[in-house]
Amino acid sequence: MHTVDTYTSMAPGSVILAGSGPGDPNLLTLGVYKALQACDTLVYDALVSPEIMALVPASVEQHFVGKRGGHPSIGQEAINAILVQLAKAGKKVLRLKGGDPFVFGRGGEEAYCLSCEGIPFSIIPGVTAGVAGPAYAGIPITHRDVNANVAFLTGHESPTNAAGETVPTTVDWESVGAAFPVIVLYMGVKNLPTIAKRLIAGGRSGETPVALIRWATTPRQQTMITTLNRAADDISECKIKPPSIVVIGEVVNYRDHLSWFADDTLTRDNCKNKLRDDE
Ligand code: SAH
Repeated sequence: MHTVDTYTSMAPGSVILAGSGPGDPNLLTLGVYKALQACDTLVYDALVSPEIMALVPASVEQHFVGKRGGHPSIGQEAINAILVQLAKAGKKVLRLKGGDPFVFGRGGEEAYCLSCEGIPFSIIPGVTAGVAGPAYAGIPITHRDVNANVAFLTGHESPTNAAGETVPTTVDWESVGAAFPVIVLYMGVKNLPTIAKRLIAGGRSGETPVALIRWATTPRQQTMITTLNRAADDISECKIKPPSIVVIGEVVNYRDHLSWFADDTLTRDNCKNKLRDDE
């Protein structure tokens, strides 16, 4: 068993499964920072920012297992196999994922696989994009005057279902809209037009404010404010792409007073000049 004092020292043949936070190195935990010094092998995703990758010591062997240039990532089974193989070869493996590994990060699947193989592992949680992204956009995801609860959902499920859609079928969107004043959507850009319609069908006003925060907490952060009614048009007009976190609810309005991070506002007027080519 690990103790809090020793887990980041890393025994050969063990894995630390950790979250890097959403991008800003200031949101990296001290635990991950120590693990970066202690590991000899790093397995990382596309959502680990270049700013954080710049902190990886040159001696660490790197394995990239994310999506790049529109190509699909290597499958989960292959990633599990890489982790097992490296650990069994006696490496000190740091498996680093964007945000938190157990929040829509498939960290549970990887830890399960390590457990089945008898490989010692520990978990270092990370700051999740659904909390830090809104904060960097000046949006408190709870506010006493607005909400006593908040829902975190994924807007995308894989593989595509029988109807050829990727909107999660296990979610009753109409009920979620009625029950949760504030909804934070991960992987929500592509399906937001459908989800917005279903929230409206469940009784939410079409004027409910919506924020899309792209590359949150990095120098590339861009925030677009829209509404449930206008979201589909605005997304297609401004070609908003992942990775973006979506916040739905009246808390978005606090941004008018609480915006503090850089000049990140994206509008229909400025998006043609401000569009970025990055993936
Ligand atoms: N484990 C991650 C989530 C992985 S799912 C976490 O806890 O944050 C991938 C989704 O996370 C993206 O589609 C996007 O919705 C969100 N995301 C992750 N990093 C982000 C960032 N820097 N800016 C905006 N959204 C981000």
